[in-house]
Formats: sequence, structure tokens, C-alpha cells
Amino acid sequence: MVKVDRSYPAPKSLAVEAKKNTGSYSEEDVIAQLKNDFHNKCYICEMNELQDPQVEHLLPHKNGRYPFRKFDWENLFWSCGHCNGVKNREEYEESIINCCIDDPEDSILFRLDSNNVEVLAKSMADRKAVKTAQLVWEIFNIRNTGMRIYKSEMRLKELQKEMNVLYDKLEAYKKSQYQKRY
Ligand SMILES: [Zn+2]
Repeated sequence: MVKVDRSYPAPKSLAVEAKKNTGSYSEEDVIAQLKNDFHNKCYICEMNELQDPQVEHLLPHKNGRYPFRKFDWENLFWSCGHCNGVKNREEYEESIINCCIDDPEDSILFRLDSNNVEVLAKSMADRKAVKTAQLVWEIFNIRNTGMRIYKSEMRLKELQKEMNVLYDKLEAYKKSQYQKRY
């Protein structure tokens, strides 16, 4: 999870749809703006080029119990189905960091070794950091169904691939700096 810059103004359809009985929060303008703001990456697992993206509500609207949340631009996030499904639990309802407001890396430590993702809150007293770290850890490690074993492992592999690209770039950069000097 990284900091995302949400763009404004909010997509026009949201205000229109909010007035309808069965309005939609995923009209074309919403999808286009979310996809662009989030660089087409799931905000939780950061997987790229999502095939089946979903509009995720950071604070759940609970089928109309909180109608305002349903169409609130600041409550809509770009997510993959795996993360949306794992997050859909009561303990995550009001306790996940809003990465469009706060930088998750300020309060969460994120480490990857060859086969493990370690995600830890910097302070155990920071409830949002603790819960967000737990959620991010879970989406890479949840193994409670056959499909989730596959999806978690796939995300871990994608992450390792991206980290390897980053390490290669760092190595190349170090080398070029060294060559410049000598
Ligand atoms: Zn995801």
C-alpha cells in the first residue's frame, strides 16, 4: 500500500446517481478517474493492470445503511477482487488507513525476503496501522481456500518480480555512479 493522490473535482455522475433509488457508483467517469488516480493498481496489494478491477468502499455502505458513503468520491478505491473479498470483514470496517490522506509507509514497515512478506505497524498503539498491516499481510498469506492459496501466492510472486526489477535498477545506478567517479 502506497500513498495515492486523488484527483478533484469528483466525477460528475456521483452526485446525479446519489439522487436515484438504485444509482450506480461505478459509471464510466468514476471508473476512468479511479483507474487513472490509482495508476490501475490495486490499492491494497498493488497488483498492476487489473483484469477485473472493483470499486471498493473504504468505509462500507452496507447496502444503503450509509447511503452517503456509497457515492462519496473520497470513499471509493480501486481494488482487485481478492483484496476486496479479504477486506470484507467486520474488523476491517472502520480501521484501514486512507492512503489518499495518509502515507501508509509513515506508520507501517514493509519487508520482503525470499518467501515472506513482513508487514508490521511501527506502533502497536496505532490501531489503524495495526489493522492495515494485518490486512496487507493477510492478502499475501491467506490460504483458507484453494483459490486463495493460488491468488495469495500469485501476488507474492508479482511482488518479488517487481522487487527484483527495483534491485536491478539500484545495482545499475550504483554502478553508473561508481563509473562516473573513477
Ligand atoms: Zn489487491
